[in-house]
Amino acid sequence: GGFQSMGLSYPVFKGIMKKGYKVPTPIQRKTIPVILDGKDVVAMARTGSGKTACFLLPMFERLKTHSAQTGARALILSPTRELALQTLKFTKELGKFTGLKTALILGGDRMEDQFAALHENPDIIIATPGRLVHVAVEMNLKLQSVEYVVFDEADRFLKWGLREQLQGDPRPAPGGTDGVSPPRCQMLVEFCLAGLTELVSFRLDV
Ligand code: AMP
Repeated sequence: GGFQSMGLSYPVFKGIMKKGYKVPTPIQRKTIPVILDGKDVVAMARTGSGKTACFLLPMFERLKTHSAQTGARALILSPTRELALQTLKFTKELGKFTGLKTALILGGDRMEDQFAALHENPDIIIATPGRLVHVAVEMNLKLQSVEYVVFDEADRFLKWGLREQLQGDPRPAPGGTDGVSPPRCQMLVEFCLAGLTELVSFRLDV
């Protein structure tokens, strides 16, 4: 069960080789074939277990090549700027040979730059949720073209107070949620969960 046997296309495989990955990590071995099979996955594993590639590689495989016509087809939600920036770096390195375009939508960065980035037909949006909702409303961005959604470190969205917000608690969550109002936050979560089909979950040495 190496990367070779996963049926990845050559541009994706080339990215893996460029990164110097020889064999998939245990969580990659478990999740990648299932995601490639079109199933929805919840996976839990230690820090450093290689989880970023678990969602990036099947995402590249699904999107295949840049498409200027469709609108963004993948959305990666990050709980923090730092994680989003790290994920962008990985996306560029691992996805180097795919030609896919990524837009970064982060709280604290200039909105004008983000509008511009979204107008350049990205295939992938990496975002913190508060700013994404803000930008989406401002730009009347519908995200209806999105078919692949990642909640990176999903537990941190909950810790952050997303749960409280969804239950209508108006107090700001500790650490801040980048100004998402409860109805808007609920819209985003409902949108992201609407397409869930068969959920497969993995828990590895946690
Ligand atoms: P992550 O858990 O996604 O933050 O990844 C932790 C580190 O492991 C990163 O430096 C990755 O580049 C690296 N990594 C991910 N997958 C592999 C692999 N299959 N072989 C070697 N290193 C990997």
